[in-house]
Amino acid sequence: MVDVVNGTGVVGGVVHAPVVWFRASVPLPPLEGDLPEDHREAEGARLKEAVEAVALGYEARAARASGAVSEVLVATATLARDRGWTRPAGKYVRGGTPAPHAASRALDEFIAMLSQLGGLMAERATDLRDIRDRVTAQLLGMPEPGLPRPDRPMILLADDLAPADTADLDSERIVALATRLGGPTSHTAIIARQRSLPCVVAVAGLAEVAEGEEILLDGEAGTLHRGVDTESARELVAADRQRRRILAGWTGPGRTADGVPVQLLANVADGEAARAAAAGQAEGVGLFRTELSFLTAREEPSVEEQAATYREVLDAFDGHKVVVRTLDAGTDKPVPFATMADEPNPALGVRGNRLRLTHPGLIDRQLDAIALAGEGREPGPWVMAPMVATIDEARDFASACRSRGLKVGVMIEVPAVALMADAVLSEVDFVSIGTNDLTQYVMAADRLAPELAELTDPWQPAVLRLIHHTAQAGQRAGKPVGVCGEAAADPRLACVLVGLGVTSLSMAAAAVPEVGSMLGRVSSAQCAAVAAAALKATSAADTREAVAEALAATPG
Ligand code: PEP
Ligand code: MG
Repeated sequence: MVDVVNGTGVVGGVVHAPVVWFRASVPLPPLEGDLPEDHREAEGARLKEAVEAVALGYEARAARASGAVSEVLVATATLARDRGWTRPAGKYVRGGTPAPHAASRALDEFIAMLSQLGGLMAERATDLRDIRDRVTAQLLGMPEPGLPRPDRPMILLADDLAPADTADLDSERIVALATRLGGPTSHTAIIARQRSLPCVVAVAGLAEVAEGEEILLDGEAGTLHRGVDTESARELVAADRQRRRILAGWTGPGRTADGVPVQLLANVADGEAARAAAAGQAEGVGLFRTELSFLTAREEPSVEEQAATYREVLDAFDGHKVVVRTLDAGTDKPVPFATMADEPNPALGVRGNRLRLTHPGLIDRQLDAIALAGEGREPGPWVMAPMVATIDEARDFASACRSRGLKVGVMIEVPAVALMADAVLSEVDFVSIGTNDLTQYVMAADRLAPELAELTDPWQPAVLRLIHHTAQAGQRAGKPVGVCGEAAADPRLACVLVGLGVTSLSMAAAAVPEVGSMLGRVSSAQCAAVAAAALKATSAADTREAVAEALAATPG
């Protein structure tokens, strides 16, 4: 009998193979009383040496790796030396605890503290567990933990993977990944995307899967199927390959079957992601999340340093549209130099464009850097602000951008500006709907809470009505209205969005062929029909059903 274990799909692809478990933790010997007073200083020095050796190990791996992998390893080396845990560990040693136990205790406390903060901070917990295992292994004279190196293709299962593990990953033999922990922004997810390895994260029931068991992993559906017979598995893998071959044959640009253009753009975090997107079918960048370049920066980078970062993305799409978003620091994307500490309700607090209130000049310096990076380019960068809530905010931002010669837009993420779309559009050149946050704020449901997934669903009719309202305002004003939240990557929802009047869709570059190929099979009249059907529905489930029916009833 087939048993399905669910998680969150991160990188698509269907793979059938036996699994190999990665278990990293290093067992500590039992504690046998306190260290004698005269041993404690030497033990403290031993701890410092072990920390340095582990940090240097990360840096050496960073030097051998490239791109995002290298960056996360450098960040992990910094975390290994972080006084947030090394200081308490030193204190425990001075109090008589042997170094391996002191390091382990201090790191466990640090992990618990970060886990409580939630979001991206919690996702760093895996890096800290890796640091703990490497430091204790060093101190106990054991080999540092490492990845299994199978002699045939296998699916790697783990509680979670740290950057140091994934840097050594043998992509020939490890053909897919599944982790019990982690989320769509965890390092496992980032690295799986970079290596195009089918991947499912947050699989609560993963522990049930036994070493060596054959499973069928579907990275798109986010499922692991146990007990699939070999013949059916072979058929499913072959069908997935065939689908991918068809998608690979889609060459763009984005347009409906009757030739109405719909720009298909990429969401990127840095130059490397932009170069990868430019190698595919994306026609430009619809969302450059600049804050993701600065997640570990303790101090605000200078205008020149920022310009160098932005230039990489502009270079990748020179001559094409690139929408740069100003810093959306705060809540799940804490940027050390720009995030308010201890906000009681950070998603409703000082984030995005509201940083202007607490960090005067920060966004202006960022605009200087974007203008500098864009000098002499045609077209120049488009710039948009996240989390705008009022017309005054839109006007102020527009004036700051125009004084630097930048084309200006705002994100529609707060319901207030969706409702005021006509007035917003009279202030700016374009808008881009961030459906992730718009849904969170319309439905009053935390986008990070897995229990609320039914509410944080962009198929919710209330969300679609606000998108319709905004897109219609765009058509009246003759100005572009894009969507850059995850909704744009759902091929069926993309048809609805186009039917509602949206003019461009921005998504993870890997999603572009599937969305493009779907749009190429429906006419603009069909998109309008599915949008009309969606607007009549009264629940997310009804909306999906109505759209599936409308798409089935209209020849595509
Ligand atoms: C959104 O909210 O939809 C969006 C694109 O912004 P982010 O996901 O970075 O908050
Ligand atoms: Mg957002």
